[in-house]
Amino acid sequence: MKLLIQNACYIASNGEKKQADLLIENGVITKIGKKIEADVNRTVDASGKLVSPGFIDLHVHLREPGGEKKETIATGTAAAARGGFTTIANMPNTRPVPDTISNMEDLQKRIKDTAKVRVLPYASITIRQLGQELTDFEGLKANGAFAFTDDGVGVQSAAMMLEAMKKAAALDMAIVAHCEENTLINKGSVHEGSFAEKHGLNGIPSVCESVQIARDVLLAEAADCHYHVCHISTKGSVRVVRDAKRAGIKVTAEVTPHHLLLSQDDIPGLDSNFKMNPPLRDAEDRAALIEGLLDGTIDFIATDHAPHTAEEKAEGMTLAPFGIVGLETAFPLLYTHFVLKNIITLEQLIEYLTVKPAEAFGLPYGKIEVGAPADLVILNLEEEQAIKTEEFLSKGKNTPFSGWKCKGWPELTIAGGEIAWEKGCVLV
Ligand SMILES: [Zn+2]
Repeated sequence: MKLLIQNACYIASNGEKKQADLLIENGVITKIGKKIEADVNRTVDASGKLVSPGFIDLHVHLREPGGEKKETIATGTAAAARGGFTTIANMPNTRPVPDTISNMEDLQKRIKDTAKVRVLPYASITIRQLGQELTDFEGLKANGAFAFTDDGVGVQSAAMMLEAMKKAAALDMAIVAHCEENTLINKGSVHEGSFAEKHGLNGIPSVCESVQIARDVLLAEAADCHYHVCHISTKGSVRVVRDAKRAGIKVTAEVTPHHLLLSQDDIPGLDSNFKMNPPLRDAEDRAALIEGLLDGTIDFIATDHAPHTAEEKAEGMTLAPFGIVGLETAFPLLYTHFVLKNIITLEQLIEYLTVKPAEAFGLPYGKIEVGAPADLVILNLEEEQAIKTEEFLSKGKNTPFSGWKCKGWPELTIAGGEIAWEKGCVLV
């Protein structure tokens, strides 16, 4: 397919805003210039819009195989495209887990057959994510594993984690960690703090996360491994990562939009759409996350898109599963509440969603330049509308942001040179 985007105001790879036409051929940006003339299948006039590199989300739960009631690769990637994401990394807490070569081959086939954007599959660190036995790192890497993670649970044994890091380092792969010390979870459903006290709920303390990050950065130093912290949520965790970076340890970290936007003070009552893991923390933690993002301690933003059925979420604060959806609301929420409120610039927000995750994992995506993969999203920064869950392409409607008025909505998403989503078109 050949596409011409005319009058594109875009953020160039040096971070500068520029205006030009973009020619896309065979999945690649082949020409950037003034008034390009070419014989193309489709011309799009982007006047008045912003053209950004397609967003990258390295923390997504697509649920397939095994959790198709919550989401499938088809619906999750459609949601990604609607949110402007053109590359997503898929977490392995599925049934089965991609912990063997044959399970990974099955997953790759499903992705090839049904994904609407690029999907990078994580393999698990341990068999069935049970923390007992390492998977076949070499074999899984050879079959396209993006990195290794047991996301959903922390790796409890330091010896197991060290061995995993040494193997990953030898293969030039990253260990990506959901950090949770099981002896400190306290059967909690929310953060250990004022909300838990008020409602008589068990709380998950901040140290449950930070103590495992502290252990892991020292293990990563010993193994000389790239260690990545998922969904960082506490002030103490940010301090540990900051100190580790200063010490030269190869650590990177991500933060979710909901931890940047909300604290326990914002939970309106016993609404399980505010239940996720890690939980919404204290206002002080939220401030530390914003500070950490701005000073480079936290590298990028990832949504932890975690769809569940309405029935599951109706089970209440204690019993409902952890997690909220995020792909279709991330950019409008962050643009409205961080860029328009002058906490970060538009250029910074785009970086956190494009070049920063790409740089952290050495990916060739997230830039608009000649020769780059044609992954783009056209954004209407002026359009304002409320978040409507009935419009989600994700099967999951579990969001705490329903009804929030936001500006900055994607209009057209191009993934690998093909139109992956367009406003007004219904994808099935
Ligand atoms: Zn997690």
